Amino acid sequence: MLSNIRIVMINTFHPGNIGAAARAMKNMGLSELVLVEPRLFPDPEASSRAASATDLLDNARIVSSLSEAIADCPLVIGASARSRSFPWPMLDAEQCATKAVAESAQGPVAIVFGRERMGLHNDELMQCHFHVAIPSNPDSPVLNVSSAIQVICYEIWKTQLSNENEPETLEYPTQQQMENFYQHLEQTLEQVGFLIPQHPGKTMTKLRRLFNRTRPETMELNMLRGILSAIGRDKT
Ligand code: SAH
Repeated sequence: MLSNIRIVMINTFHPGNIGAAARAMKNMGLSELVLVEPRLFPDPEASSRAASATDLLDNARIVSSLSEAIADCPLVIGASARSRSFPWPMLDAEQCATKAVAESAQGPVAIVFGRERMGLHNDELMQCHFHVAIPSNPDSPVLNVSSAIQVICYEIWKTQLSNENEPETLEYPTQQQMENFYQHLEQTLEQVGFLIPQHPGKTMTKLRRLFNRTRPETMELNMLRGILSAIGRDKT
């Protein structure tokens, strides 16, 4: 099941951090590493910091965008130390592990980590269902990215060991299916005159947050798509 949990690193600056992350993952039984446009990779510094985990580096998938890294994932969690002006549903490290392990029985789960300097951009966090923040000293809350990965992977390993989680039986849509739904919703809201394309405001962001919180199942999302199609037919 842990092979269904992937760690995604965005635009990593120091190759050593990629190596340290691979080692942290392997220590805790994880193997799927996806790199979104790393600055320098492969690199000897990454290999030396990976120690015995160079196989994870060899098998790492390199992609050109976050959407590509998570398109097939029904659950995506973004890691950030910062609280946001537009708050997203929050998890601590343990809750993140519980969710990730439970849902990995159903499909791939992505946990996304940001850049060393700039972290995660808001539009990247908006592609995640949850925001995980590792509780830390408010005077110095930001961990090195590979240390943050270590903490999250450790919690996942502990959760897996305790093995008390009932596997989830519900089926959830993938991130790509959610994006298609948001596009359909936006088009329909424009068509019925609720959204004015020149003045969209924060409506779509608020709707995304609403659907993130409720997490429609695949069957429910199909029903919503059906409703939108029926509205579309009515107007044409
Ligand atoms: N200066 C950046 C910090 C980046 S640290 C910022 O302001 O966001 C690099 C990455 O490590 C972050 O994007 C996040 O994914 C992870 N990280 C660091 N500290 C964390 C914490 N306390 N909780 C969750 N993730 C953290």
